[in-house]
Amino acid sequence: MSTPCIICVAITGSLPRKADNPAVPITVSEQIESTHAAFEAGASIVHAHVRNDDETPSSDPEKFAALKEGVEKHCPGMIVQFSTGGRSGAGQTRGGMLPLGPDMASLSVGSNNFPTRVYENPPELVDWLAAEMLSYSIKPEIEAFDLSHILKAADMHRRGQIKDTPYVQFVMGVKNAMPADRQVFDFYVQTVKRLFGEKAQWCAAGIGANQLVLNEWSVSSGGHARTGLEDNIRLSKTQLAPSNAALVQRVADICAQHHRPVATASQARRILGIA
Ligand SMILES: [Zn+2]
Repeated sequence: MSTPCIICVAITGSLPRKADNPAVPITVSEQIESTHAAFEAGASIVHAHVRNDDETPSSDPEKFAALKEGVEKHCPGMIVQFSTGGRSGAGQTRGGMLPLGPDMASLSVGSNNFPTRVYENPPELVDWLAAEMLSYSIKPEIEAFDLSHILKAADMHRRGQIKDTPYVQFVMGVKNAMPADRQVFDFYVQTVKRLFGEKAQWCAAGIGANQLVLNEWSVSSGGHARTGLEDNIRLSKTQLAPSNAALVQRVADICAQHHRPVATASQARRILGIA
């Protein structure tokens, strides 16, 4: 039987606004409600950013705390993953919520370009974020925007900066960074297996219309899948996604086509080694 597929839902992000898609959850209570519906549809990880009331990105630990508490209450066992990437340039405030001890946090280990700016991840900040995650027993998810980021994760693992086998997410389709290129994707998978072993777990995210493409590639190649309004607000060129749950359902349908069960929260914890 094939490994159950872990579906991660990236509910909000730091960019999409209500004006782009009214289903983007902004307040903490909207986020909890949206996460709950996504959980019921099969998501076992929630990747979260928080926002101010005017929809601008926030790093307020109190908002992260309220979100974590709500998700733990309404979505039993669901893995809570905080983003440390959302406010590039903000330095250590990007990790100010890590003492709350979420199950996971995203960790970008190198810099690259984004559509309109540089996504800055200087070495000393990467080291500091990794050390914080180690000290609060938070499992990092390595965001690989480029091949070098996978090799950097291997180096950090060798040095003891990342405790367990790195769990890498390939991010493709960000304008000015790595496009959704099938040969690169296959080489990423090969590289993860070469560095971390055949059984190493990995996942992938595609931006915009590439979300569906990456969902199909990941599910059919034995990886795990990320979806959600952070990365893509549409079901098709002409149709907005009505909810995060609808995007999760789309991945669950792909899993059914490929005869992969959708991981429950407890299966996802077992697969990722999260207590
Ligand atoms: Zn994010």
